Amino acid sequence: QTIGRYFDEACARHSSREALVVRHQKVRLTYGELRQKVDALACGLRRLGLQPGERIGIWSQNNVEWALTQFATAKAGLVLVNINPAYRRSELEYALNKVGCRALILSPSFKSSDYLTMLADLAPELAHCEAGLLRAHKLPSLEIVIRMGIDHSAGMLNFDDLFVSPNRDELGELEELGERLQFDDPINIQFTSGTTGNPKGATLSHHNILNNGFFVGEAIRLVPGDRVCIPVPLYHCFGMVMGNLGCLTHGATMVYPAEAFEPLAVLEAVAEEKCTASYGVPTMFIAQLDHPEFAGFDLSSLRTGIMAGSPCPIEVMKRVIDKMNMGEVTIAYGMTETSPVSFQSGTDDPIERRVSTVGRVQPHCEVKIVDNEGRIVPAGTPGELCTRGYSVMLGYWGDEAKTAEAIDKAGWMHTGDIATIDEEGFCNIVGRIKDMVIRGGENIYPREIEEFLYRHPKVLDVQVVGVPDKKYGEELCAWIIVREGQRLTEDEVRAFCQGQIAHYKIPRYISFVDSFPMTVTGKIQKFQIREKMKQTLG
Ligand code: ATP
Ligand code: MG
Repeated sequence: QTIGRYFDEACARHSSREALVVRHQKVRLTYGELRQKVDALACGLRRLGLQPGERIGIWSQNNVEWALTQFATAKAGLVLVNINPAYRRSELEYALNKVGCRALILSPSFKSSDYLTMLADLAPELAHCEAGLLRAHKLPSLEIVIRMGIDHSAGMLNFDDLFVSPNRDELGELEELGERLQFDDPINIQFTSGTTGNPKGATLSHHNILNNGFFVGEAIRLVPGDRVCIPVPLYHCFGMVMGNLGCLTHGATMVYPAEAFEPLAVLEAVAEEKCTASYGVPTMFIAQLDHPEFAGFDLSSLRTGIMAGSPCPIEVMKRVIDKMNMGEVTIAYGMTETSPVSFQSGTDDPIERRVSTVGRVQPHCEVKIVDNEGRIVPAGTPGELCTRGYSVMLGYWGDEAKTAEAIDKAGWMHTGDIATIDEEGFCNIVGRIKDMVIRGGENIYPREIEEFLYRHPKVLDVQVVGVPDKKYGEELCAWIIVREGQRLTEDEVRAFCQGQIAHYKIPRYISFVDSFPMTVTGKIQKFQIREKMKQTLG
């Protein structure tokens, strides 16, 4: 099934139900209205001469334009390229050229960054060209630039003007095109978060992401009438697949609280829209729970949700269940390259399992855990997690060598994560191979030490990394954020560890910080912490 055909059917089936609520833009659309807008936009994009298979970038925070573009490009057979809102000029240049975007949709500004200025710096030719006929020296493939917002900019088309009133022929052609598109055609290029280095562009098909959205929705038992709060970025698979496609495939309502994550906006959205589910990476839930106004919100409508993207401290899970009323909250594990989810807990799995594992393998996916030589290890033994099945990406766009490194000949995706799977199939993510610390020959998983330090009452958040050391190869370093109004010393931390964890697991370096370096998806970049420490330690 292709996304376009599925979309048409779903919109027909749920036509009078609310499909999308965008709180910061005061937009509300039913599935019927969504369909009309999407068809008008798909025809508008086709009138520009954009052909199936061509790449069109979107560089924007969360908004209604984003959602409409996602579905309209799928119907028009275009490959949507998600461009991180935090990208700056050189990253934009890299992304557009890497995948050869012919068109780009952008929003004028986002927080402190002015997208129009950054683009004008890259393509000064814009100021003198006719809209849609750009020839820019530095962006050779880019011809069409489309901006959101009501103002006009030289050389650019306005997004709102793309909503044409399609004539019968155009609608017929769109329908015909929908019949020709194949389920395994590329439909989307998503860049990985860049947690471990440079983001990579994963190419995904209709089949990849539509199915993944469906099974993610199944796992949290979404039904028509459910309302899902989506504060996670749409440019990332968490928002666009688990959020938008999870809702579409179940006739549920997508609720966007704000253009970017903001704890208060999420709490307001859940309370006022009576959301039944809420998504986030662990740091987003921590920010909500710790918000000074938290207690004032009625969150009783919540039933379930998904926490994913990075390891979730057990304490946080417990607070989400008790204080946010999310008794059926689930944990999901995945990666951009696998559309994304491959493990998820069930809403009725025992709580201890849900708080301590990422659940069991998704339907129709295979998994194995292997040692350094590629041999499958016994249950409970850590090793590299490999996954195979419908969800594995087509490849990294234009990078056969990297693709071959990640996906072997038998179709196994090598995740780069270390995990264990127990006799009953519950999976525990131990850490990333790249983050594992080897100190004097001992393998140390930073996650374990983070979990331990997290139990200290004065510790709000903690990250542990390895830093190079002449004697031991690597030494452990902990960065700690102390709870507001509290004081904590290195000695107190060491005393807390003494006798509780093995001596070699006690961090040699301890720093107190206000925040961690993060990706725009809210993930902590350990490699940045390592770099900073390397500089400090000389
Ligand atoms: P990059 O590949 O660019 O370094 P990234 O791997 O963070 O960035 P994503 O594809 O967004 O980019 O994230 C996938 C990774 O996130 C997984 O490989 C895993 O390490 C981590 N992850 C995802 N979900 C969980 C989870 N529930 N628990 C622990 N780790 C998780
Ligand atoms: Mg990765």
